Parts: sequence; structure tokens; C-alpha cells
Amino acid sequence: MICLTCKVGTPRPATTTVLLEKNGSLVILKDVPARICDNCGEKYFDSEVTEQILEEAESVYRKGAELEIIKIFKSAA
Ligand SMILES: [Zn+2]
Repeated sequence: MICLTCKVGTPRPATTTVLLEKNGSLVILKDVPARICDNCGEKYFDSEVTEQILEEAESVYRKGAELEIIKIFKSAA
């Protein structure tokens, strides 16, 4: 797989921190599995990972929490 952004690098499996914000709620998801381009740093997420991220973020927004740090993903190793 070639990076779609820079068309030079190769996205490699890694984990990253995702930060989402909506209506004053800040959601930080740690150790999220992703593929990160070794050239430009662009991050790619699998569709089920994206879904899980959005689900978790929505539940925080619904609670109205100002800040929540979530670690939902097991390490891929
Ligand atoms: Zn790239």
C-alpha cells in the first residue's frame, strides 16, 4: 500500500493517539491501532476502528463530559 497523501511513503502498522472535540467535549483515545505513513505521517484507520472511535466519542458527548481519556483497544501484538 502506497500512501494516498504523499504517494511516496508506505503506511506501516502502529498505534497512535486520536483527539476528537465536539460541543466543548474533548475525547482522547490512546493506543489506537492505525497505519502511519513513514514519509509524511498521514494516519489510516480500518473502518471498524473508525467506527469504534466514533462510538466511544459519541457516548462521551452524550454524557456531556468535558474531558475523557479512553483506552479501548487491545495492543495489536
Ligand atoms: Zn505519506
